[in-house]
Amino acid sequence: MILQTLYQQCLKNNVTFYDEFQVVDLLMVNGAAAGVVAIELATGELHVFHAKAVIFATGGHGRIWEITSNAYAFTGDGPAVVMRRGLPLEDMEFFQFHPTGIYKLGILITEGVRGEGGVLLNGKGERFMEKYAPKVKDLASRDVTSRAIYMEIRDGNGVNGQNYVYLDVRPESVNKYAAIDGRKNLDGTPYTVTGEQILAKLPDIVDFCRVYLGVDPITQPMPIQPTAHYAMGGIPTNKYGEVIADEKNTAVPGLYAAGECACVSVHGANRLGTNSLLDLVVFGKHAGLRAAEFVKEAAFQPLPADPAEFARARFDRIRTADGKENAFDIAVTMKKVMFDDMGIFRSGKGMENALKVVRELQDRYKHVRPTDTGEVFNMELMNIWELGNLLDLAEVTTVSALARTESRGGHSREDYPDRDDKNWLKHSLAWAHEDGKIELKYKPVGITRFEPKVRTY
Ligand SMILES: Cc1cc2nc3c(=O)[nH]c(=O)nc-3n(C[C@H](O)[C@H](O)[C@H](O)COP(=O)(O)OP(=O)(O)OC[C@H]3O[C@@H](n4cnc5c(N)ncnc54)[C@H](O)[C@@H]3O)c2cc1C
Repeated sequence: MILQTLYQQCLKNNVTFYDEFQVVDLLMVNGAAAGVVAIELATGELHVFHAKAVIFATGGHGRIWEITSNAYAFTGDGPAVVMRRGLPLEDMEFFQFHPTGIYKLGILITEGVRGEGGVLLNGKGERFMEKYAPKVKDLASRDVTSRAIYMEIRDGNGVNGQNYVYLDVRPESVNKYAAIDGRKNLDGTPYTVTGEQILAKLPDIVDFCRVYLGVDPITQPMPIQPTAHYAMGGIPTNKYGEVIADEKNTAVPGLYAAGECACVSVHGANRLGTNSLLDLVVFGKHAGLRAAEFVKEAAFQPLPADPAEFARARFDRIRTADGKENAFDIAVTMKKVMFDDMGIFRSGKGMENALKVVRELQDRYKHVRPTDTGEVFNMELMNIWELGNLLDLAEVTTVSALARTESRGGHSREDYPDRDDKNWLKHSLAWAHEDGKIELKYKPVGITRFEPKVRTY
């Protein structure tokens, strides 16, 4: 519905679309946005878009992790491009793992399944959420439930000793646990469901499981594991969608960001379900309004003599590398180490290992060359370019996480299990410098009406 409305409004207002163009660089002149460089996938040609204002809305970067609900396009292009142009990224250590992804595939199984009465069961058939969240049980928040599943698996309680547990929405199971919980309908009668009702309420989920797993959720429990889902961190912005350049909240003239690539930080360290769409509709609108106001007054920044030089150099490096390394191997290794050591649970030792591996991979990446030498829809070249983004974001995520010696929301450390508001009630800002160093600074969390409180379930 959002897309449909947006598309119709764009048609009505004669917006020009550049389909199959991928933005690969941000032009900054005199500290202000001056446009972008994009590659035309059909020709391989670089195009310069000279602009008074630029809005990034390029989505998340969940493809860093091995198991993810995110589509292949979630490669963090916006944050990576902006970071290469000397701007910081905010709160990158906070990444949300959704508890219920289809085993091995990561495809999301909505919380609606548990809302309808589905329960999580370990390999021994135990409803283990009773241990971790005695009051709300299976309806605990995403981070709490993901950690509980992880701990069950780690304690050898996965199904058949594997890395998954069951999400059980079979009517007999739902009815059994609803009776135990004393769950009632609005009219006070006991809550019960039938297979037909489950199918009517959760048609997509039933379909996904039947198609991708060969499992029928009406008669069989679904194998699930946590899946990397949502980036709380990203390009720092204020509430108007203006991109922020430093810890003093200085806005970059003409540069805006909204949606999952941005960090306006309404979700803090852990987003609640459904709030991403709310975020991007509200702050996307603000970014658009601000940009429209800005271009009325602002002048174009003068472009450098060869605006595409920076982007071209990066692509030339990829095209002429010695080809000793393979992008697929590098991606698989990155995803695995990030899932194992920078995932649901983290520790200093694990994160140091992740950082070491990611940095080795960044070195190996310099030797990757596409076997396809063509210009027309060279998706191998684009995959390699995107892998560079993912590696850079994996590094900055890990550095930001290592520094935060506490647990908060999507950042959960075994060596620092408690939230530490005294020292860490602050946002991280990470700059990637040209010499390869990552610099961290912090800015305070703005607290207005609602004081942060300890969560208990
Ligand atoms: C399976 C799943 C279920 C979800 N369910 C919910 C939900 O129920 N409620 C909720 O609130 N949130 C949900 N989320 C989160 C929410 O969908 C996303 O956070 C949100 O769609 C992000 O929107 P966006 O506009 O920021 O980015 P996207 O929708 O990802 O759009 C980014 C666009 O930018 C384009 N792009 C990327 N890089 C470039 C580039 N370099 N050049 C040009 N274009 C580029 C992409 O092709 C894409 O079209 C879900 C997410 C997933 C993965």
